[in-house]
Amino acid sequence: IKIKITKIDIPVSFASAFEGEIIRRGDMQVEFDGSRKDCFELVCTKDASEVEDHKFTLVGPDFDQMEVGSKQQIAYIVDVAGKNMQSDFEPVFERKFHSYINCIEGVMHTGQRDMIRIRISKNTFDAGFRAKDLAEVLYANIKNEFDAVVDKCAITIVTDAEECTKLRHELAVPAYDRRDERLTSLTDESVPVYYSCIMCQAFSPSHVCVVTPERLGLCGAVSWLDAKATHQLDPQGPCQVITKERVIDENLGRYEDVDEAVAKLSQGALEHVTLYSIMEDPMTSCGCFECICGIEPFSNGVIIANREYAGMTPLGMTFPDLASMTGGGVQTPGFMGHGKHFISSKKFMKAEGGIERIVWMPKDLKEQVAERLNETAKELYGIDNFCDMVGDETIATDPETLLEFLTEKGHPALGMDPMM
Ligand code: SF4
Ligand code: ZN
Repeated sequence: IKIKITKIDIPVSFASAFEGEIIRRGDMQVEFDGSRKDCFELVCTKDASEVEDHKFTLVGPDFDQMEVGSKQQIAYIVDVAGKNMQSDFEPVFERKFHSYINCIEGVMHTGQRDMIRIRISKNTFDAGFRAKDLAEVLYANIKNEFDAVVDKCAITIVTDAEECTKLRHELAVPAYDRRDERLTSLTDESVPVYYSCIMCQAFSPSHVCVVTPERLGLCGAVSWLDAKATHQLDPQGPCQVITKERVIDENLGRYEDVDEAVAKLSQGALEHVTLYSIMEDPMTSCGCFECICGIEPFSNGVIIANREYAGMTPLGMTFPDLASMTGGGVQTPGFMGHGKHFISSKKFMKAEGGIERIVWMPKDLKEQVAERLNETAKELYGIDNFCDMVGDETIATDPETLLEFLTEKGHPALGMDPMM
């Protein structure tokens, strides 16, 4: 017998009205910041015998043992078991944590996987909100929303710094990598349909992601397989089938079916969206992009900045500067939010010539994507070690120095048609 939990037993309110709530630095009791500390959120499918339903374990200090206003680490591991549970559903549950946690009064959540940020307000802390309550919110919502597949659910919250670091590298990152691997065999041409995602409309009411095998959602957390699973679990939910039968322009990734879907899902705010161009009707951006690419006119190329990068780019803008002009569910030709994995995709701004246009990335991001990006460049253009031609902040943070470097390296973008 399954029991629906109607009221969540925590000391503050839980309602969708709190979903867009912002907690300012001065009002926060504690912050968990995945861009500075080892944080992650992870769902693990287990055998029924391994999961004790509603069990809560805390490893490390509780919120009242953390210095006021400090940045901390946190990891929450949600073990689930059920006869109809599939590991394909894990990332779908994980993605819902964003909205569950945001529905808590005085708690803000952004990001996903090991790049999350959570703020807890002083008022909510003073009302008695602790780690156990965070677990309770996750437990109650998972059991409610996914009762068709989850019979048992147990939650472990880790705040101990060493354990967070260890588990992030030994448990979470390998799990994310395994999921990403599953996708590499799929192409946009090989699948019968694409999917929409409108999970971010709480923040960006006109934003629609069109998710394809070679272009994941810009948050980096919703792959085509995830969108498909989301649709299977909840046919009326945030991910809907988009047919791809009426192609208008293969190179731009322009389809009548896609245009119709985005027009309907954006309530008319968007009329045309292409899948493979950043200049012509590019996809919109909400606020949770992992990266932003932007046109760099001196080199005919684009630069990419990731959220974790705190420095300057050769466009004279930092990541927050770029984000302020790219987000909010509007189309900004020349600028686009996207997921990290999209960088090595054969469909990355294919209409403008593809990854050959990439002229600059922060060093850390370049290292993260180098292996796959080099492989794609070799396959598409026969270029060896393409990443060595791409600038970073140790080489240049202004356009003149960048151009000198690109010229010296013989970067292919310099010989391409101007983008504007
Ligand atoms: Fe969905 Fe896109 Fe938001 Fe990711 S960024 S949750 S894919 S709408
Ligand atoms: Zn978003």
